[in-house]
Amino acid sequence: GIKIGVLALQGNVSEHICAFKSALDSCGISEGSEVFELRQAEDIESCDAIAIPGGESTTISRLIDKNGMRIALKNFKGAFFATCAGMVILASSVDDVRVNPLGVIDISVGRNAFGRQKDSFEVPVDIKGLNSSFNAVFIRAPVVKSAGEGVEILANCGDEIVAVKEKKHMAFSFHPEIAGDFRIHKLFLRNSGIIP
Ligand code: GLN
Repeated sequence: GIKIGVLALQGNVSEHICAFKSALDSCGISEGSEVFELRQAEDIESCDAIAIPGGESTTISRLIDKNGMRIALKNFKGAFFATCAGMVILASSVDDVRVNPLGVIDISVGRNAFGRQKDSFEVPVDIKGLNSSFNAVFIRAPVVKSAGEGVEILANCGDEIVAVKEKKHMAFSFHPEIAGDFRIHKLFLRNSGIIP
């Protein structure tokens, strides 16, 4: 069966668990699959995919070390899926020294990039791979300030890059897990070859 771990140190964990379960259900392959709260380094290697949720990236970064998960995460051979604070964690550089990113995706990221007045907003975004726009919820969202050659831009919001893909991995500035629309979770599972 398919095994998906949602990094459960802090943040929107249960929403991603529901979203992945729904995505697998809708493909008729939830039988024998496991979507679980990932807290232990020894459970990392056996996952097909790991999701890093939104929350507070400084806190998640600190807890990765506190729980002794950094090396196993860096060595993980499967696919990473990241949203909001998770995008900050997967980056190769961040504009905040309190975050020690994993360097999984070759992007540099700015935290809380949409300013205070717009702390939270919702806007339809066109995403490469989806045939109609996605209602994207931005909550103190990061943006991609620069991306390496191997990185594909999946979505922009105004002038900003808000979704990227590198190999099997994907990262989104916004929150696809709270829209009640699981097309992005499915897109990720297809892109990484986990579902047909
Ligand atoms: N601003 C947060 C951070 O950089 C992310 C916010 C979120 O995940 N909703 O940690």
